[in-house]
Amino acid sequence: MKKLLSLLFAFQILFTAEAVLAEAAEEPVFSGVLAEETAEARTYADKLQERFGVTILFGSECLNAADTVSFAIEAEIPGRITLQDILGFNTVSDLEILEKALEQYPPEVFSAMKNEQAPNGFRFLICDRIVNNDPEQGSVGYASCDGTYYNIFLAHSSYDPFAVHHEIWHEMENYICWKYPGAFLIWDSLNPENFEYSNSYSSYGSGYDPSFFAREYGTSGASEDRATIAEAVFYSNREEWFSRRPGVRKKLEAMNLALISTLGIQFNWKNNP
Ligand SMILES: [Zn+2]
Repeated sequence: MKKLLSLLFAFQILFTAEAVLAEAAEEPVFSGVLAEETAEARTYADKLQERFGVTILFGSECLNAADTVSFAIEAEIPGRITLQDILGFNTVSDLEILEKALEQYPPEVFSAMKNEQAPNGFRFLICDRIVNNDPEQGSVGYASCDGTYYNIFLAHSSYDPFAVHHEIWHEMENYICWKYPGAFLIWDSLNPENFEYSNSYSSYGSGYDPSFFAREYGTSGASEDRATIAEAVFYSNREEWFSRRPGVRKKLEAMNLALISTLGIQFNWKNNP
């Protein structure tokens, strides 16, 4: 079952644009009271902003923040009403997932990420769809930094708490490497002998030793390797999971060294981080 779940998750993080469109076609047509429902989602988002010290945007609020260099976002999928219009019946559940993920971090993380690289800290942008420059690929999450915010784009109704943890790690690593460019120079020595990353987001995972990687997708590149390990820190069975993967645990130790020296926190694979 666990294996099946991790397979499902691996499949979920990168999926084809066609799959997204097929899913979108089945969305029900909005028939509720829009203004009231939208206000409810915004009020909920405002509460989360205050509680965690982050910024949250959704729907067309995200458009101006899109990083169009490598990714574009869409506020509307052709053939479906806009996210802004369907906020009432499902952005609240998007926000619940985000809350569930954020409450697992010590509050110091959110203040430490308001730093000299991005003084306003984390900004979560829940958009309709994230499209990268390969038209065959959509994505559940995308992390970037614009010098003001750490922007984490999340695709509406596609992400789960682990996708949030994955993108949060990318942003923390962004800061770590900005401060200490050599922070992960030792990383290759933590991989099995002769191992090489595929350096491709669409092709990875052939013939790898699973005791060194959290899941297949981690073999696509070093930063994805670390982001998938950061997800595993939040598995409910993490203690037993990490015990079975000594290679991954060593990598987590290296990540913790970097975390402690920059953000003053560490991931504990035995208890709540
Ligand atoms: Zn990633």
